[in-house]
Amino acid sequence: MLFGRKDRKAITIADKQVVEWKYTTCGYCSTGCSIDVGLDAEGKAVATRGTADADVNRGKLCIKGVFEHHLFDSAGRGLAPLMREKTFDPYQKTDWDSALDKTASEIKRIQKTYGRDSFAVVSTGQILTEEFYTLGKLVRGCIGTNNYDGNTTLCMASAVSGYKRSFGSDGPPGCYDDFEHTDCLIAFGSNLPEQHPIIYWRLKEALEKRKFPLIVVDPRVTMLAQFADIHLPITPGTDVVLINSLMYVILDEGLEDRDYINAHTDGIEAVEAAVKGYDPVSAAKVCGIDEDTIRTVARIYAKAGAAMSIWTMGINQSTHGSDGVVNINNLNLITGNIGKPGSTSLSITGQCNAMGTREWSSCSGLPGYRYLENQADRDKIADYWGIDESFFPEKRGLQQTDIFSAIETGEIKGLWLVATNPMTSMPNTSRIRKILEKLEFLVVQDTYGDVETNQYSHVYLPGAVWAEKEGCFTNTERRVNLVRAVVKPKGDSKTDFWIFNQMAKRFSNGEKIHFPETSSEAFQEMAELSKGEGRTLDISGMTHDKIEEARGIQWPFSEDDEGLKGNPRLYTDGHFQTKSGKANLIPVIFKDNNECPDEQYPFWMNSGRVVEHFHSRTKTGKIGNLNKFSPTPYMEMNPDAARDLGVDHQSYVRITSRRGDAVVMVQLTQRVPRNMVFIPFHFHDCVNRVSLGLLDEHSRQPAFKQCAIRIEPIDQALAGQLNAERRTF
Ligand code: SF4
Repeated sequence: MLFGRKDRKAITIADKQVVEWKYTTCGYCSTGCSIDVGLDAEGKAVATRGTADADVNRGKLCIKGVFEHHLFDSAGRGLAPLMREKTFDPYQKTDWDSALDKTASEIKRIQKTYGRDSFAVVSTGQILTEEFYTLGKLVRGCIGTNNYDGNTTLCMASAVSGYKRSFGSDGPPGCYDDFEHTDCLIAFGSNLPEQHPIIYWRLKEALEKRKFPLIVVDPRVTMLAQFADIHLPITPGTDVVLINSLMYVILDEGLEDRDYINAHTDGIEAVEAAVKGYDPVSAAKVCGIDEDTIRTVARIYAKAGAAMSIWTMGINQSTHGSDGVVNINNLNLITGNIGKPGSTSLSITGQCNAMGTREWSSCSGLPGYRYLENQADRDKIADYWGIDESFFPEKRGLQQTDIFSAIETGEIKGLWLVATNPMTSMPNTSRIRKILEKLEFLVVQDTYGDVETNQYSHVYLPGAVWAEKEGCFTNTERRVNLVRAVVKPKGDSKTDFWIFNQMAKRFSNGEKIHFPETSSEAFQEMAELSKGEGRTLDISGMTHDKIEEARGIQWPFSEDDEGLKGNPRLYTDGHFQTKSGKANLIPVIFKDNNECPDEQYPFWMNSGRVVEHFHSRTKTGKIGNLNKFSPTPYMEMNPDAARDLGVDHQSYVRITSRRGDAVVMVQLTQRVPRNMVFIPFHFHDCVNRVSLGLLDEHSRQPAFKQCAIRIEPIDQALAGQLNAERRTF
C-alpha cells in the first residue's frame, strides 16, 4: 500500500498477508477498545486494527493496541510449569499434574498447620471475568481462605470504596457518551492522552463538535492540562481541600440544586457544616489554588446545565483516596449532576478488566456485588454452588496491601499470585523482597516466566495470554465486551480458566460445586446469578454471541431489555442502592498525613503512566516498537531546579527517600514545578524503591503519588553501566 503527498517520499507499509480477521477486545487498559486481529495463511497473528463498528473506539487504537499481536510470540513467555524445593535453586520443568498437585498439597499443609487463613491469594485486573468468577468459586468455595484480594487495591480500591460509601454500591454511573452532552468537565488527577488515549480521543471529538469548559486539576502540566481551559496546579494530596472549597462557594452563593438534594440525598446538613471551614481564602493556603480561581471554577461547574467529573490515580492513590472520591460524589450530588446525560462521577478504571474483578471475583465478598456480611447473599450463593454457607468466612478478610503486612508478621505463610508483579508494583521494594523471602510457599501464575516476582516462587504456572483465551472484560463505562480466542496458548501454557478448574478438583468441595468446562457456560451462571433482586449489576440479557454482535453491552442489561444497547447510565431515576434509596452526602475533613518535602528531602516525587508502557512493563517491555520510546527509567525535572543542583539534561542522578534509592535519567521540562519531579512508574527497581505508599484508611490503597526525595548528581560512567545491566528488550 502507498500513501503520502506527491512531493514527499511515499511511505510503504508491508502487506501483512492477512487472510482472516478475528474479533476480540484489547487486553491493556480499561478503555475497552474492540480489536480485529489479522491472521496469515498459517494462522499466525500478524496485524491488529480497530474494529470499525465498535462504539468505544470506532476503528481507532492507541499504540499499545496497534502492536498487541506481537504479544503472542513475545520474549519471556512461560512455556511449561516449573518447580523447585527452595527459592533461588535452579527451576526444573515439570508436568501440569505435578505442579498442581504440589500447589494443592502445600495449600493444605499450610492451612492444616497454621489455620485456614494462613494461605492467601492475590489476583489481578488482567484475566477474564469468567476466570475471576471461577477463581472466586475456588477460593471462597473450595480453599476457604479469607485472605483473598486483587491487585486492583493498587489502582481502583478508592473508587470502589467511595462509590459504595456514597451510592451504596460500586459501579461507575456514567459513560463516554456523557462527553457529548456535558457543559463542563473537571478532570481530577487524570492524564487521559497518555493513560486512556482513546477515551481522550472521544473527549476531543466531543469538544470539536461543541465547546465546553475543560478544567484539569493536576500538580503537573500534563498533556491534558496543556489542552485545558483552566489548569489548577494543586499542591499534591490536597484535593479534599479544593473540593470542600468549591462546595463552600456553591452553598454560600445558593448555586446548589436544592430540589435534587431534598429528593435524592441524605446528609446535606453535615456537609454544609463541614465545608464551612474551607472558605477559598483559607483553602488557597493549603491547596495552592488562588481564591478567585476557586470561586470561578465553582461557579462554572454549578451553573453548567450538565457537569461531570472524571478522575484516575491522582485521586485514588492517596492517603485519603476514598474521601476524595466521596467528595467528588458530594460535589456532583449537591449540583444534581448524577444520572443525567453529561452529568456524572466517572472513575476512569485502570486495567482492562479491573471492573470484571470488582463485579465477579468475590475478592471483596461474594459474586455479583454480594457481601459475606449479608445472610441473604451468603444463602443465595451457597445454595447455588451447592455448599454449606457456614463454609464462607463471616466477613471480608485482608486486602492486598494488608496481606503483605500479614506475611511480614508471620500470620500468612503461603501465597498464590495470579498475573500480578508486586516486586515492581508495590511500594517500598526492599520491604516486599524481605516479605516474599519469608513465605514457606509461593506459587506464581503468570504469562511471563521472567516476571520479577517469579524469582521468589516455588512453583510457576504458565498462563495463556490475552486472546489465547475466550471470555469477557468490562470496561470503564460498564461495557461487557468479548475477547475471542484468536490463537492457541503458546507451548504448554494453559488458560487461567483451565488452571482454576483443575485446582478445584484437588479440593473436597470441588466435587460438590459445578465448575463449567467452557467460558460461555460460566458466563451463563453469572448471568443467572445477576437476575432480579433490584441490583444494578444485571447481565441476565447477555450471552457471548450477543456481546460480540453488539461490540459490547453496558450493564444493567436484563433479559427483559430489548435491543442490544444496554443501559449507558446508572441512577437515572435518582434511586440509589442504599437502605433509604437516597445517596449519602458524607462530610470529608482534610487530614494532613502526607510525607511532604523538607530540608533533607526537598522534592515531591510524583509518578504515573506513559502511553507506550503498561503497568510493570511485563508485556510492553517485550515489544520493541513500544519499549524503544522509553527503555530507560527517567525523571522529569524542572530546569531551574536542575541548574541549582548542577544536573544536566539526559544525565543520570540518584534519587533517595527514607526507604531507598534509585538511579534515573533526567529529562528537563517545565511540566513539573521547581520542587517536584515526575517518574513513570513502570520500571523495576525505580519508583517503588523510594515510594512510601501510606495506606488509605477506607480502601487500603497506597499513596503512590506523594513522597519526598532528594536528588544527587552521580558518576555518569558508573550509572551508564548500571543501566546497561537493567532488563531492557
Ligand atoms: Fe487498548 Fe486502551 Fe489503547 Fe484502547 S486505549 S487500544 S483499550 S490500550
